[in-house]
Parts: sequence; C-alpha cells; structure tokens
Amino acid sequence: MAKLTPLMEQYQKIKNEHKDKILFFRMGDFFEMFDKDAETAAPILNIALTCRNKKAGSKVKMCGVPHHSISGPISKLLSAGLHVAICDQVELATEAQGAVVKRAVTRVLSPGMVYDLDTLDQFTANYMGAFDSRHVSFLDLSTGSAFYYEIFRPSDFLKLLEQFQPKELVLSSSQKEKCSQSKLLRSVTFSLFDNDVFKDKQNALLSPELQKYKSDPESVRRLVSYVYQTQGAESLKVLNSFERQSLKQEMYYSHQLYSHLEVFKNYNGSLKDTLFSAVNRTKTPNGARLLKRRLKSPLIDQNEIERRLDQINWWISKPQMLESVRPVLAQMGDGERKLGKIVQPNCNGRDLLVLVLWLDCGLKMEEIISDGSFSEKLKKAQMLRDKIKHVISPSCSSLLKKGGMINQGVNPQLDEWIDLTKSSQIHLLKMEQREQNNLGISSLKIRYNNVFGYYIEIRKAHSSKVPSHYRRKQTLVNAERYTTEELNVLEEKILSARVKQIEMENQIFQDLRSEILEEFSFLMMICDRWSRVDLYSSLAFLSIENKYVRPYFTDHFKLTASRHPVLEQKTFHEFVPNTVDLPAHQTVILTGPNMAGKSTLMRQLALTILMAQSGCFVPAAQAEFPLFHKIFTRIGASDLLSQGLSTFMVEMKETAEILENADEKSFIILDEIGRGTATFDGMSLAQAILEFLTVEKKPLLFSATHYQELTQLANHHSSVCNASMAIRETTDDIHFLYLLKPGPANKSYGVQVARRAGLPSSVLERADQLLDQHETSVVKEDKQAIHVESKNIPKTDQKKYDLQKKNEKHLIQSLIKELSEYSLMTQSPIDAMNQIQKWQKKLNSLSQKKTRKALETKTQSDFNQDFLPDILN
Ligand code: ADP
Repeated sequence: MAKLTPLMEQYQKIKNEHKDKILFFRMGDFFEMFDKDAETAAPILNIALTCRNKKAGSKVKMCGVPHHSISGPISKLLSAGLHVAICDQVELATEAQGAVVKRAVTRVLSPGMVYDLDTLDQFTANYMGAFDSRHVSFLDLSTGSAFYYEIFRPSDFLKLLEQFQPKELVLSSSQKEKCSQSKLLRSVTFSLFDNDVFKDKQNALLSPELQKYKSDPESVRRLVSYVYQTQGAESLKVLNSFERQSLKQEMYYSHQLYSHLEVFKNYNGSLKDTLFSAVNRTKTPNGARLLKRRLKSPLIDQNEIERRLDQINWWISKPQMLESVRPVLAQMGDGERKLGKIVQPNCNGRDLLVLVLWLDCGLKMEEIISDGSFSEKLKKAQMLRDKIKHVISPSCSSLLKKGGMINQGVNPQLDEWIDLTKSSQIHLLKMEQREQNNLGISSLKIRYNNVFGYYIEIRKAHSSKVPSHYRRKQTLVNAERYTTEELNVLEEKILSARVKQIEMENQIFQDLRSEILEEFSFLMMICDRWSRVDLYSSLAFLSIENKYVRPYFTDHFKLTASRHPVLEQKTFHEFVPNTVDLPAHQTVILTGPNMAGKSTLMRQLALTILMAQSGCFVPAAQAEFPLFHKIFTRIGASDLLSQGLSTFMVEMKETAEILENADEKSFIILDEIGRGTATFDGMSLAQAILEFLTVEKKPLLFSATHYQELTQLANHHSSVCNASMAIRETTDDIHFLYLLKPGPANKSYGVQVARRAGLPSSVLERADQLLDQHETSVVKEDKQAIHVESKNIPKTDQKKYDLQKKNEKHLIQSLIKELSEYSLMTQSPIDAMNQIQKWQKKLNSLSQKKTRKALETKTQSDFNQDFLPDILN
C-alpha cells in the first residue's frame, strides 16, 4: 500500500475515532469528505464525486462543500438519518509548527440534533426519543419542548412513535440487543448511548443543569446525558423540564387514524388538502407546531377541552382585537427557534437583534391585549429587549471576529480601543498621502492582507524612486511590496487595538448572552404564552371565516348541517351539508353507489370529533355529541408489501385491533369492510364483525358497504339502522345529491358509475346483459336460501353444487311422473311391491343427501344463534 501523505495520515487518525459518522474535514476554504463518506454524501447533497490526486493514480474518492455554506448540507445529511462530525483547523496556517495544520473534531451531530435552526422545516418538531420499560420520552432541542409518557402496553409505544415521529431514538446497548430482531430498528434512526451521567456521578457531583432531572425516568436521563455529553451543558439551557403526559387523558385511536383521515399528509404524501392545511391560520411557526401537537393529542378531559374552547370564544367576542393582533403576530417569526439559537455555540450578534424584533412584536401584542398595562413579568421582557438594543449595534455582522458588534458608549475601555483603531486608520491614510507626495508616485498605496499584514505597494515602473529605508516584503509581477519602520510601529498599534477591541466585544457579547440564558426559562414561558395567543386567535379567525361552531358534549349525537373541513374549502361544486341525529350507541349501515359521498360523510364525522376533542370549533351549524374516548377508522389500505402484508391482511389486522379495543365510548368508521376477499366470505366476515361490534361493544359505528344483504341487520337489532346517500336517477344516468337519507339504497349502480368513468360502451352493454341475467336468476331462486346455503359452499364447488341440485330436481320430477303414470290394475302385487321398493331406494338416497346437508346447515346456524345471530332467519 502506498504511504499516506501527512495530511491523509491525520485524516485517517481522526476518521478512526468517528467511523460511524460522515467526517467533514476542513482543508483551506472547503470541508472535504473522503472514501465511503464521500460516496454516501455526494448523492444526498447532489454534488460531484471526484478523486484526490488523480494524476498520482490515487483512488481516494472525495467531495466537498465551501466552508461558509455547510448548514444546508449538514441538515440534509442529518435528515437522511446520518451522523456528522465536523473537523476544523484549530490553528492558523501561519502558526503551524508541524507538517500539517492541527485539526480536531469541534462538533458531533446526530439526526435529532440541530446545526442550523433555519434549515429545519418550520411546521415540524425535531424530536429525539428514548424509552425504558415504562416510559417513552421526547425532546426537541430546536424548541426546548420536552415531555414523557407512561406506557401501559406495547401498542402505546408504537402509537407514540407514530404520533411524534422522532428523528432519532437514543438506545442503550442492551436495548439494541433486545430489539435487534424487531422491525422497529429498521424503520427508525437510532444512536447507541450508554454513558448515563446520572449513574456515573453521585448526586452531589451533578452539575446544576443536570440536578433537575435526577428523579425523572431512565429514558429522560438517557436523553439528557446524551445531549450533555455530545453538545455540552449549555444545550440543556433550552430545555423546559420534562412534562409528564398521560395517555389516560388523551383519546385512544388506531394508529392509522391520521393517515386514513389525511390529517397531516394526504394519500400522495403531500401536505396539501389535509385537515392541518385547511384549519391552520396561525401566523407563527411555533403557533402552527402547537396546533399540530394539539391535533395529534385529542383529549378526553372535558374541562381542558372546554377551557380551550372558552379561549376561542373569547377571541371571537373581540373581533377588533383579533384584527389588530394578527398583523403583529405575522411579524414575530419563530420565537422558539429564535430562542434556540441563543443556546447554539455559533450564536452571534445578529441572533440577539432578531430576538429584539421578536420581543418588540410580542410586547406590542401584549399592549393590544391588555389595553396598554403590562404585568410585572412582562416588564422583565421589556428590560431585556432594551438591554440588547443598547449593547448590540444594529449594523453588526454575523462574524464575531469582524468587529463592530457592540455599540459605542457601552464600555469606556472598548470605546478607547475603537477610537485607537479608527485614529490609526486615519494616521495610515495620512501616511499614504504623504509618501505619494514625497516620492511623486500617485499610484502608491498602503494596504493589508492576512498573510503579510500592512505593506506599501509600488508599481515596478517606479522602482527607481523607492528610497533606501524601504524594505522589500513581497514581489509581484508588476509591483513590489515594502514596509518601513514607521509602518511596522503603526501596524503593531492597529493590530493590537483591533485584537483587543474584538476580544472585548466578544466578552461583552458573551456576558449579555449569559444574562439572556439566565432568563431563559422566563423567555420560554412568554414564548409559550405567545404561541397560545397565536393558536387561539387563529382558531377564532378560522371559525369566523368558515362559520364553525362550538361543540357541546352530551349523551346524544347530533350534528346539524355538518361539513367536511377540507372538501368544503376546495370543492368546485357547492359542498352539501348533512345532518346526523342518532342515539350514542348505534350501528349505521351506510349504502349507496360509489362516489355518492359515503366515505366523505364518515370521514367528516370522525374529523369533527377529532377537531372538537383537540379543542377546536367544528364545521357545522350546531354540534353536540358524547365525549368519545376512542376513535377507530378502517378505510381502504394499500398493500404493505415491505412488511409482508397483503391488502386483505392489513384490513383484517386493523379490524382485529378495533374488535379488541372498541367499547361503548368509541366512535368507529368502517369503509367497505370485507371487500378484500371473495364475495361470500367477505360478506360473512362483514356481517360477523358488525354483529359482534353492535352486540358486544356498543360503539357509535358507521359502516359503508356494497353488500346490500347487510342492510337486513336492521330487522334483527334495534341498535342497527340503515342510511344511504341519495341519488337522482334519469333514464341513462344517475346524479349524486350527497344527501344522507334514512333507509337503505335500493341498488348499487355500479354500471352507471362505470359509464361516468368512461368505460367502453361494448363492455358496459355486456355488463348490463350479465347483470340482467344475474338479477333474473336471483329473483327465481329463494334469495335467503341461496345466501344461507352459500355460506357453506366453497366458491370453487358452486358449479358442482348447482348441477347436483338440478339432478335432484329431475329425479323427483321423474319419480312423481312414474308414480302418477303407474298402472296399478295391470301389475301383480309382487311386481307392484318391487317397484315401490325401487322408488323407496331412490327416495332414500335423495333424503340421505338432504338430511346431511340440512344437518351441516343447522350446525352453522346454531353457531350463529349462539354467538352471532343470523340476520337472515
Ligand atoms: P363514496 O365513498 O360513496 O364512493 P366519496 O365519499 O368518495 O364517495 O365521494 C366522492 C366525491 O364526491 C368526493 O370526492 C367529493 O368530490 C364528492 N362529495 C362527497 N360528498 C360531498 C358533499 N357532501 N357535497 C359535495 N360533494 C361531495
């Protein structure tokens, strides 16, 4: 193997310590990635993959990004689930003693961490999660939000992961070992972490930042230790204490609920046309994230729901205040992430100025809300804002070392350094003019660069005029650069004044930052308050704009003129409202052709409940319903082939979950249950499922179906009723009215809907013909008998069975014929007896077959009687 260059040797040494991370290795103005890191990163960052030292035959793959724009690339790699280590030059090239400049890893980032808050999606929280045997904990370093849930069953864990979608799970090695076979680890990004600082240290030795977590669950302590050790103690400043949340206060729901109802993403995975996009009128990203979190955690605690609804009412009753506050909110930006930046190691003067703007808006808004009188607490915010304004210069740069960050008049010593720098600059200008005049070279200039410092530059054409006390510093193609004793002294003065100025500016900045960090929990608290102002005022605005009403919680389900919150905002034709008025425990069998509006209606009811119990007004003219504790949806799924599940299997798994968990306080929608398999077993399953839920679980259940037979359930159960979507039929077409009406639909209109969809007329004619044939044969036969018997006949045997029935019919007919035509008088008694015996034999063979069949049927229906009463008796 070829010997490594000193640079690559240094790289290898550092890379060996960070094998599991993409190493950003600083070389001059670039951060480079090599080998496998480059191969992984280049396609994600969409940058070219090249080879280092191609000429020398080297095969080391590499790619790189400019040092001043690494935020975007780092965020992309983190969101792709990768870990990143940033290795920087930690000494100046001019000071380097060894063969290469010293380099060291200055920051390590994992997917749940943040390098640049501005690159995060503003509507999405950036959770990092951990779990132990009884808890699941989450924290978001970009906003300081931190909480944990107690869990009671394994499904709670999955539900919480689905709900909060952590970017990274922090696992201990033993957890990883236990979960190594689980699908979970294949679907989430995780980091291993075992250095629990709480275990290693006695309580007394814990730093103050850690003290407050010492009694929290193990998973909280793991998260905190992880952040503490990888990002430093200061990162913890942004965290609120971990709030204890209880699943018991929240609605229980099937984990597909949010995708079924397209709450945050629609079926294409896009954010458009979702409940969230339809109801989000917030003006700040933190307000939007709060709305998202509320929609993700609908409650069963009526007091808390009513408290939230009262807040919306309050804003609705103050339309003028609402109108004045919203434009101010629109100026505020993302308070949580602005605060998050103060904790980041790369925080600068501009970040503090941004905080001033935010505080300005927040205080202005408080003035509107409180008619100009601030509470004592808010005065603290005022003081902080004034302090920052006083200290930080409005024209400061984002680079600390550029200087000019602190206003004059803040610190007398700093003012002296600034004056000295300025006066030296004037001195320098004067010197330049004097030398131009003395030497008669108008093009002579005095300039500065990082490598050579200050110099006098004279074009080569004037070399003869250069006096002897000028010392040559550097030769260029057309010019020479010189220095003099006087320039050296001046340079020394300027540079030391500048270094001191920057040092002092930095000190003042850090002091101010620490002062802000001291007040961090207060700032987080007012930020939280302003998020809620945004949330409630925006929900009030939405309710006025879209005529939403306050929901009331009673024992009855009544929605007057209910609408679908998303569709009503986008349908090209007028959305038709529907009124639903039912007792709390009812099974509604909803029939009607495809496209008649069954799914829309069921979803709008589920969405209305979800909105109400999250604390929102709802799209209806009047709304009252029971406080539901659980909500389940079973709506057409696609194959989850990656998990080895077919559509039907997914359907049954989801149904099994509903059957197990549903109860009297549940709201359930089932869309075409049983359609994923053959007609007869699909229908039987659907019937059995509906009967079981109705009889055993007594929820409020809506089930849309094309199995017309199921409508007969209403004849056998008082808590089952039929409803359908009205249509108007003309000679050659049908028209959807989208109106819910009592009673079942009389047919399914599949062929008419297919005609509207544009199927070729030859296919439609043939389908019409076949339909006629089927309908005639069904009318001829006894409909009920076919259904009951068919339940016992495998589909493949159906033809055989039909043939057998035909033969039996023929046999009986021929026996009757033979008997009626038998001439008794012409036969001897013995012949007559023989003939009678023959007939008996034939009849016996037939009745044996029938008895067997009847017995089989009886066993089945007995089972139905005991467990699930047969609706067709
Ligand atoms: P189904 O479930 O009966 O097949 P859908 O609920 O999917 O029918 O509705 C089909 C389409 O009909 C919807 O996408 C929507 O455009 C329209 N629609 C449904 N309900 C209404 C309504 N109440 N008012 C207006 N249009 C509606």
